[in-house]
Amino acid sequence: MNQVFAVKFGGTSLADAAQFERVTNIIRADGRRRYIIASAPGKRFDGDEKVTDILIQCFNKRDDAAAFDALFAKAAERFISIRDGLKLKTDIEAQLDIIRKNISKGAGYDYLASRGEYLNGLLLADLLNAEFVDASELIFFTESGSLDSKKTYRKINTRLSGDGVYVIPGFYGVLPDGTVKTFPRGGSDITGSVIARGAQVCLYENWTDVSGIKMADPRIIPEALTIKSITYRELRELSYMGANVLHEEAVFPVREMGIPINVKNTNMPDEPGTMITENGSDPSKHTITGLAGRMDFTVILLDKALMNNEIGFARKLLSIFERHRIPVEHMPTGIDSISVVVDSSYLPDSKLEIILEEIKKELEPDTVGVVRDIALIAIVGRGMQNRFGTSGEIMMELGRAGININLLNQSINEMSIIIGVHNRDCHRTLRVIYELFVGDGGSGAE
Ligand code: ASP
Repeated sequence: MNQVFAVKFGGTSLADAAQFERVTNIIRADGRRRYIIASAPGKRFDGDEKVTDILIQCFNKRDDAAAFDALFAKAAERFISIRDGLKLKTDIEAQLDIIRKNISKGAGYDYLASRGEYLNGLLLADLLNAEFVDASELIFFTESGSLDSKKTYRKINTRLSGDGVYVIPGFYGVLPDGTVKTFPRGGSDITGSVIARGAQVCLYENWTDVSGIKMADPRIIPEALTIKSITYRELRELSYMGANVLHEEAVFPVREMGIPINVKNTNMPDEPGTMITENGSDPSKHTITGLAGRMDFTVILLDKALMNNEIGFARKLLSIFERHRIPVEHMPTGIDSISVVVDSSYLPDSKLEIILEEIKKELEPDTVGVVRDIALIAIVGRGMQNRFGTSGEIMMELGRAGININLLNQSINEMSIIIGVHNRDCHRTLRVIYELFVGDGGSGAE
């Protein structure tokens, strides 16, 4: 691995001229910060708009000249004010003309949505006196839209082999025919990870507007502590359940090479942030690393005497969901019972009826029950391994709080416990569990 860093700055870190200055100071403070990935300008204050959102609205109005012009001018103004505020020379107007022409010639949604990153990258390279390398030279997708990792990593490795500082716009790459294609929203995190991997850096820094990943969603638990060290695996479990500081797909490219990710705050650069690694450093004193919850699941519960002797029962059940292209989240089982947990958005009432009919016909269960409005809470922590009584403590505490647990699932590696409660109890459950482990007198209070 090379002793250099890939460094990604999110939208709020590059939202205006003052933020660009902070970013420049951060980059200059450590000569190892050599591969810089830029997002589009984000929100400057509550209620402000992200440039990517404006560009998307713009594309949707491309057949309404007046509306298109007004929106395009709004986006343009953001870049012009950054350029002028920093007294840079980049000819933004000429770039905007090219974008306009390309749109009138039929350039697509992804092209326009990605221009925020492109223009911000040009401005940042100008400010840093660094080399701008368009993502279309580095990030390649296959015909079917997945990352062509072989080609991409090879190209990154050769194209970025100099010893200067490179600025690369995040969020997009190109299809085999050269058309721009974006990653999912928030995808500059993925670009950062792909560049980190291709350039074989020793650290991927992800700079945002919070000082790392919190143990719980701060909108629900405002005093939630910052996680100092988390493993890729724990993070995956938390992101899947809705913790969203880092795009969930951003973990895979760096994880394969064991490159740590450090999530840091542009507005408080001295704070250590959160370090994401394969094994983590000392586990949290709080037993758990973090917890997250997601609402709106449906549980379908089947009972059938001697089910466990019936070979292929689970496969037949799952194949019904597969046929309807419905992903199954969990499948807790008992001796003569099995339940399937599904994201409710895949199961409107009409669909649910069809599924239940097929289950009855094909599996002949004794009873079938449905519970709607279930929230799943993931309690995650490598500190739970080999520690006795954690799930017992959780159940007792929830019982004391009068919260009914509909489902409980502990992973074999004891790294996560998933519990299902009614949607209405979701936030209270998170709070009770947080208090249990972290609050005054919690099992692992510092
Ligand atoms: N600007 C894009 C978005 O808003 C990508 C990113 O910020 O990561 O989704």
